[in-house]
Amino acid sequence: MGLPEKIETRLFINGEFVESSNGKTFDIINPATLKPVAKVHEASEQDTDNAVAAAKAAFPAWSELTPEKRGSYFKKLASLIRENNDELAALEASSMGRPVGEFIDAYASAAKWDRYAEAGYSVQAGTTSIQTPGFVNMTFRQPYGVVAGIIPWNVPLLFLANKLAPALIVGNTVVLKSSEKAPLTSAKIATLVQQAGFPPGVINIITGFGNVSGSILSHHMDVRALSFTGSSRTGRLIQAAAAKSNLKQVFLELGGKSPAVIFEDADLEKAVKETAHSIQWNSGQVCMANSRIYVQDTVADKYIDLFKQNFEKEIKMGDTLEKGVNHGPQADEAQHKTVLAYLESGKQSGGELITGGGAPSGREGYYIEPTIFKNTPEDAKIMKEEIFGPVVNINVFKSEYEVLTKANATEYGLYASVYTKDIDRAMRFAKGLEAGTVGVNCTSPVTGVDMPFGGYKSSGSGREGDPLYSLDNFLETKSVLIKIS
Ligand code: NAD
Repeated sequence: MGLPEKIETRLFINGEFVESSNGKTFDIINPATLKPVAKVHEASEQDTDNAVAAAKAAFPAWSELTPEKRGSYFKKLASLIRENNDELAALEASSMGRPVGEFIDAYASAAKWDRYAEAGYSVQAGTTSIQTPGFVNMTFRQPYGVVAGIIPWNVPLLFLANKLAPALIVGNTVVLKSSEKAPLTSAKIATLVQQAGFPPGVINIITGFGNVSGSILSHHMDVRALSFTGSSRTGRLIQAAAAKSNLKQVFLELGGKSPAVIFEDADLEKAVKETAHSIQWNSGQVCMANSRIYVQDTVADKYIDLFKQNFEKEIKMGDTLEKGVNHGPQADEAQHKTVLAYLESGKQSGGELITGGGAPSGREGYYIEPTIFKNTPEDAKIMKEEIFGPVVNINVFKSEYEVLTKANATEYGLYASVYTKDIDRAMRFAKGLEAGTVGVNCTSPVTGVDMPFGGYKSSGSGREGDPLYSLDNFLETKSVLIKIS
């Protein structure tokens, strides 16, 4: 599996590929080899405005199409995405370091487009009421107009579909800004959007940094709703930008510090396999990864021993373009430095380092050894902050009350899990854990395609994934009052 001869790096605005208006480009470096991969066009203020203007101009005609017609473009796009799986895998491997053997994103994203292709007719006009004498009242559900999506670099194709498909199927037009760390697959999707024949301006895909293009979109007066996935820090800036500009609707999918609680009656081997995979997959660069594990004292030694063995046996670091490799580097130098700094902080925090703890010696690229800390103090930085690396804290607990309190003692609330065979306890935890998703005898990255996804507390606002919730995000409600004389 290799890179294509020509990599698309331009901006996709109004159905055409254009270079950045001020000529600015930035470099993508392969984090596994440290070799340059591409020079990517950076959207200027003018380019971002052009993309919004194109979406605004395309809105009236697009919103008038039947959901069936809109969905027909989705189906073409979904099949083109599947056909281009290998190229998309190679592009992601070379820009953000996901091993090609671990690339599930194209098929997952195509499935989203297919699912939303059929979802448009499920939006009903709303409600009717004849409770006010002399009136027949009703609500309409109508698209906003221009919607912006801003996505991170860790699973770009899935987030791109999560933002665009629901917004488009109910009649909005969109501007998507990809992440500066992984822009190549989004640009490739733009070529497929063109091939699928979407009318110009309906989907615009630009690449750039938070400053300029991300900030311009968040402040833009013509953007009426914005769906964001990324860090809590950026989420706050976007919320503030919306407040300062046109009070656009903002949906935020943010960071996590997810707990997994392992009781003594759990199937330990299964729990180890799944919780180890959760923190190792994508080199720990997963918002919902179980980075805090609490294991009951009676089985703690066995669990930690099996966990360490799992890391030693299952993980194969190496060239991300090679099949069989399942552990890639961190996405870039900045991520690598951040994780190394957290590891140093962890070593100073009073917890015990069980395995890992740094960059593997003799390996080029931004790799980190999968790391286990045991019994780290609850108030330590690495217990409180999102590391976004293959680093797990395993702490030991005695009682149910104690562990529920500790699991919830975080400002994050994206995902939590509990492993136990006791149904009463499982349900007490399903109810008591403060998280948008709770796994019982399963953990992240397992999510329900038939379920909404989103965060409690500072992990975000709003839900996405399932059409039942996502479509609502992109529809205004209008009350129509009809007076009967
Ligand atoms: P980030 O917040 O640094 O960047 C995300 C996107 O926001 C990028 O496209 C970036 O260019 C843009 N951006 C940066 N500053 C901006 C600004 N001022 N205005 C507008 N846009 C701006 O996040 P990241 O490092 O790309 O991604 C990792 C983070 O994403 C982690 O915190 C992770 O937990 C979170 N995440 C959450 C979910 C979820 O579903 N809840 C999923 C994946 C990742």
